[in-house]
Amino acid sequence: MDKIREDFPALNQLIHGLPLVYLDNAATTQKPLAVIEAIDGYYRNDNSNVHRGVHTLSQRATDAYEGARATIAEYIGAKSTSEVIFTRGTTDSINLVAASFGGTYLKAGDEVLVSEMEHHSNIVPWQLICNRVGATVRTIPVTDAGELDYPAFKASLSTKTKLVALTHVSNALGTINPVKDIITEAHAMGIPVLLDGAQAVPHGRVDVAELDVDFYCFSSHKLFGPTGFGVLYGKREFLEVMPPYQGGGDMIDVVDFAGTTFNDLPYKFEAGTPHIAGAIGMAAAIKYVNSIGFGFIQNQEAGLLHYATQQLTAIDGLRIIGEAKDKASVISFLIGSAHPYDVGTILDKFGIAVRTGHHCTQPLMKRFGIPGTVRASFTFYNTRAEIDRLEIAIRKAAAMLL
Ligand code: PMP
Repeated sequence: MDKIREDFPALNQLIHGLPLVYLDNAATTQKPLAVIEAIDGYYRNDNSNVHRGVHTLSQRATDAYEGARATIAEYIGAKSTSEVIFTRGTTDSINLVAASFGGTYLKAGDEVLVSEMEHHSNIVPWQLICNRVGATVRTIPVTDAGELDYPAFKASLSTKTKLVALTHVSNALGTINPVKDIITEAHAMGIPVLLDGAQAVPHGRVDVAELDVDFYCFSSHKLFGPTGFGVLYGKREFLEVMPPYQGGGDMIDVVDFAGTTFNDLPYKFEAGTPHIAGAIGMAAAIKYVNSIGFGFIQNQEAGLLHYATQQLTAIDGLRIIGEAKDKASVISFLIGSAHPYDVGTILDKFGIAVRTGHHCTQPLMKRFGIPGTVRASFTFYNTRAEIDRLEIAIRKAAAMLL
């Protein structure tokens, strides 16, 4: 563990005179040296614009950029690199599908099915496009335990449903949704499925071919890579018939005032100079994760989740929001009537970083009748000793606030 923690320089610092306890991994993860050095190396040695360059630096940058695409495609089990579109992140990926797929195929009276536990980025893009075309965003309710109401999901599918857009893992509750069953159910009615995988890819192997998912969206920065970069995986059969999202350089074949033709996949959806260092950094992050291995990561996270749940539930007045049977290493909680923001502020004084608020899931907070939660999210570099510090600090915060 010491060796792993040394890979993450940001973990090794004092906050208000105390060693940092970083438990905000669901918001963004810290970056290992392998990622920092890959980005540094690219800017120091190979910096150049990609594609069409004949000179050596451009060739190197293009090789690294397209090599990253191959690494990412392999990581998620995509059949081809042409199904891996580089975006600015999960939000951008969902907006791309909403604008391009939704803008083309959604008509008045149609429905897009989302759940009550969605992040705003898997709600608002659908509202924007549905409002434009006269379609409806329909919601699947969430149970008191924070699980998807599966019978309600099944009952919501109809001939009006044109897409199911669901989170794979909830950022606010940690709930892992039964996505394989959901996809099978939707496909039986000919309905495509988009998964928001922002919180899933850091916790386990995702195989898009095995899932048979139609669109899969995720961000690099929650997977130990740089911010502002992410991926849209899409099945070729959909991507081929979807119009471009944005126009500009790189996404074209021939531009003429009489009419423009577009580039092949995936470039048709990648207008403008891309985030080259982002792709390189994300590929380095994936290689790092592979070197640690999901066997270790999942074992570590399950142990931390179990231990933290046990320690925190022992605190008087502490209530955990989200008690799904299948849960990622996220604990959302409230203590008595204390406002999450006040709790988070006190925890920071003890060197502990957690996230407070609605976690970009306002409809979910409304569902539970709460203003927000305090969220501690763990990854493989966290330790039981850190959870002990969290527990002590929460007890002190409770004593101060209640
Ligand atoms: N969906 C979920 C479930 C998330 O947790 C997040 C990030 N909090 C997003 C979407 C948006 O990701 P990004 O801000 O990287 O686009």
